[in-house]
Amino acid sequence: MNRRQTIPKELRYTFQQFNQDFPTDDACLESIKEQRFPGGIADCPKCEKPRKHYRVRGRTAYACQTCGNHIFPLAGTIFEKSSTQLRIWFHAMYLIGSTRCGISAKQIQRETGVTYKTAWRMFHQIRKLMAEEIQLGGDGGSGVEMDEMYHGGRRKANSGRMLKADQGKKTVVMGIVERKGRIMARVTLEHKMLPVNTLVQECVLPKTTIFTDESRVYGAVSELAGHGYEHRRINHSQKIYVMGDVHTNTIVGFWSLVKRGIGGVYHSVSAKYLQSYLNEYSFRYNRRDSGNLVFSSILQRVGEMASHKPALQAERNPTL
Ligand SMILES: [Zn+2]
Repeated sequence: MNRRQTIPKELRYTFQQFNQDFPTDDACLESIKEQRFPGGIADCPKCEKPRKHYRVRGRTAYACQTCGNHIFPLAGTIFEKSSTQLRIWFHAMYLIGSTRCGISAKQIQRETGVTYKTAWRMFHQIRKLMAEEIQLGGDGGSGVEMDEMYHGGRRKANSGRMLKADQGKKTVVMGIVERKGRIMARVTLEHKMLPVNTLVQECVLPKTTIFTDESRVYGAVSELAGHGYEHRRINHSQKIYVMGDVHTNTIVGFWSLVKRGIGGVYHSVSAKYLQSYLNEYSFRYNRRDSGNLVFSSILQRVGEMASHKPALQAERNPTL
């Protein structure tokens, strides 16, 4: 199956285009520089003024046109301490941004030619870029669904619920999704679980209807009526899954996507990495209508997520 054929033309970013846009390490560096210092204009700490900066040949630095002071666009980014070529990082971001149902470190290793260890580390760093803090719902929307998924441990047949013996020690993922919209999913240990209402107030805008099942976990959501949230519940235990618009099918669909990914692509995911895995899936889900332009969104995050220390630190790879 050629996955590219399923992407509408205007949302398609072919590998050929990618190669044209980023043919060399220099081209990649230039794009990060443009993101962080458009036009090469940056505040020069020596001149104490915004100045134009020019690339220093053979280095990852750009020099102030007036005093020659160097700035380093990669400082504070995920690339800063890596000795892997930028071009390979970009290639890995392209692959992660182009897959529909997940890609393994093994596949990244195969396609980019780095060692498995490097591929795995790159993957983990790139996933960090895919963490988002978003607020869902709001006035005029069609509401959000909220549900939990248990990770690991044995489950009761057909219910997805944890066996009594395993309760209290397992990893729980709380998810909230807008219908036809965006999702957020957060991993938490069951015994350290954030009160559901705190999560709602953090992640859901007031004047939102919240759909949940009848589980005790969500009992408290009704108490939020005073804060402008409306709570509606569906009774799954009586085998009722949809009552008018009261259902949690959207989030249940996302959980099955996640579980298929864990089972099929990653085989298993330890609790430690589950959050970054969910970040990756949510990031792509939230851009499911942008074809593989998801790559551009990931690239955009490099600058957005860079620490704000001035880009003055030692450079990464003097041979670049
Ligand atoms: Zn200067």
